[in-house]
Amino acid sequence: MAYKFSYEKVNEIIKQLSKEYDIYAPKRFLKQGRYSDTDIVRYDKIEQVEDIVFDEKSDYAAKEILSPITQSLFYFTEDEFRESKEKNKKILIFMRPCDVNAMERQDKIYLQNGGFSDIYYKRMREKVKIALIECTEGWDTCFCVSMDCNKCNNYSIAIRNESNSWLVDVKDDDLTDYFNGEEVDFQLKFIEENELKVNIPEIKNKNILTKLKEHKMWEEYNKRCISCGACTTSCSTCTCFTTTDIIYNENSNVGERRRTTASCQVAGFDNMAGGHMFRTTAGDRMRYKVLHKFYDYKKRFKDYHMCTGCGRCIDRCPEFISIVATVEKMNNAILEIEKEEC
Ligand code: SF4
Ligand code: SF4
Repeated sequence: MAYKFSYEKVNEIIKQLSKEYDIYAPKRFLKQGRYSDTDIVRYDKIEQVEDIVFDEKSDYAAKEILSPITQSLFYFTEDEFRESKEKNKKILIFMRPCDVNAMERQDKIYLQNGGFSDIYYKRMREKVKIALIECTEGWDTCFCVSMDCNKCNNYSIAIRNESNSWLVDVKDDDLTDYFNGEEVDFQLKFIEENELKVNIPEIKNKNILTKLKEHKMWEEYNKRCISCGACTTSCSTCTCFTTTDIIYNENSNVGERRRTTASCQVAGFDNMAGGHMFRTTAGDRMRYKVLHKFYDYKKRFKDYHMCTGCGRCIDRCPEFISIVATVEKMNNAILEIEKEEC
């Protein structure tokens, strides 16, 4: 069932929904951007329709709600511990199709990893309902169509934002009471073509994979990539984190374990006891990231590649490194290796 609501009515609905749901959407934070006098758009709680940024891609992904940058897992004393408490309210997140598809990719890692479920992710995920934001144009760094992430029908409500009103398709029975108004014909649309496209290479055998890992193409990133991790922290699908035990008082054994977003692109990420490191150069780390997104994840979970084509890593990289250009280089390297094999 679809309805049309004025912004005034939308704000009444948001007010009612807020009693039951924490509502998150892309929101503008003035002068908190990367450069002086620039803003940042990231996910946060909203209280009115005017809080939601519709005309810009958010700098950071919706994943920050379900896998926060930093999170207390449990609290401990010498001989006992207590899990951090979960919030009581349900969660409604306004997302574009790429971010909904990203959440499905994260679900596989957090919930279906060798039969293990991450309880901290699971308990939040079970509370989430999706409010899909119709996205028909995208931006110049989006390549969601190439990654088959431009569409989704997994939502509770879907909205088209017009100048002063919303068209809303309501699929979830739990939400029908909130959305009651003038019935309209509303066919949700999706972007069908991006300016930016990428061809994902097929790595046909282990020999090609080994030669690709050793290929000189990765050396370029030793000079270009500064290992800042901006690409992975803004990525809608990256899930790596590190944990730290915070002791409240240096003479006590009382504290908490916290997990914090980490990045495979930052030197030291893979340090092991005894000082062993797996990836010592920026090129090694780039190879690891790109193969993880465009080969390993699909090999492990079968259905699709990890990358959704949201393009945030391209937007955020201070060295103008494009993952699309890197994948194209990988395509050329594979062709070269295949020719040598013939
Ligand atoms: S790798 Fe880049 S384009 Fe792909 S999901 Fe992550 S941020 Fe988006
Ligand atoms: S954002 Fe760019 S420079 Fe920073 S780690 Fe990623 S690829 Fe390297």
